[in-house]
Amino acid sequence: MAEFELIEKFFKNNGGRADVILGIGDDCAVVQVPPQHQLAITTDTLISGVHFPVDTSPYDIGYKSLAVNLSDLAAMGATPAWVTLALTLPEADENWLIEFCRGFFTLAKQFGMELIGGDLTRGPLSITVQAQGFLPEGKALRRCGAKAGDLIFVTNTLGDAGFALREKILEDRLNRPEPRVRVGEKLLGIASAAIDISDGLAADLGHILKSSHMGATIIVDHLPLSAALKKSVSADKAISFALNSGDDYELCFTVSPENENLISQISHDTNVSITCIGKITSQKTFTLQFENGKTYDGKITGYQHF
Ligand code: ADP
Ligand code: MG
Repeated sequence: MAEFELIEKFFKNNGGRADVILGIGDDCAVVQVPPQHQLAITTDTLISGVHFPVDTSPYDIGYKSLAVNLSDLAAMGATPAWVTLALTLPEADENWLIEFCRGFFTLAKQFGMELIGGDLTRGPLSITVQAQGFLPEGKALRRCGAKAGDLIFVTNTLGDAGFALREKILEDRLNRPEPRVRVGEKLLGIASAAIDISDGLAADLGHILKSSHMGATIIVDHLPLSAALKKSVSADKAISFALNSGDDYELCFTVSPENENLISQISHDTNVSITCIGKITSQKTFTLQFENGKTYDGKITGYQHF
């Protein structure tokens, strides 16, 4: 199949959004941003053997390449709208493309996104996605807004994806992260700072602390751990996975104590568990301790930026 036939067959005519003036087929896509809104734009490349194991299924590659970008939109509180896809393939394998598209468009549909353009080239397998979403003017959830006394929350459980990389269980948590888009949207005007956890909690919370010029105290026995992870490793190891391993794509965000009561409603409305794991401090240190006050002295590996 020639390049244009492939584009026609696999990528054209999806979504049907009214704000896409011109989709796939011309030199550029042309789109309409709603009044009083701004565009949030993010891009991520996934390279075979680097960002996913070489034996990952094409479905999971399609799913994850969009999911990691959606997670960035979620971390800003943006509502997903449009996406472009630059695909480099070693060969035009139609069965591979069918499965890739199944994974990609399952997620695109779930969040009402339309694929509006892209590129197709031959070479070692690599996928670059750019996702765009809407934000009400001036409302983006940034990394720099955390204040002393704010509570620190995370969605769902941590450490499962990192564990899946080593042990070949919990693989859905590695290959099919659920971008917390609906949580992010509801945090607009409520959270003071937010980030998605791609490099591990310690590293990513570190970005919030650095941007906000703050420190934090984390209660390590409050870190949310899945039953599967707790069953598989010691309590200490599980905490270490939760702090240091990446690829979870959960959200970490901060909330002033006045807004604390709104979080359980968001958790209820989105059906995503949300756990308070600590507090922002004006003292610029990163303190890890147990509930009983004892210091946690395990190693922090992902934490490089503070
Ligand atoms: P150009 O040469 O002008 O860059 P292309 O020939 O690369 O355009 O692509 C033709 C059309 O198909 C464009 O609208 C482009 O956005 C779209 N397209 C190409 N590859 C993809 C892809 N992998 N997914 C979605 N759209 C694509
Ligand atoms: Mg052109």
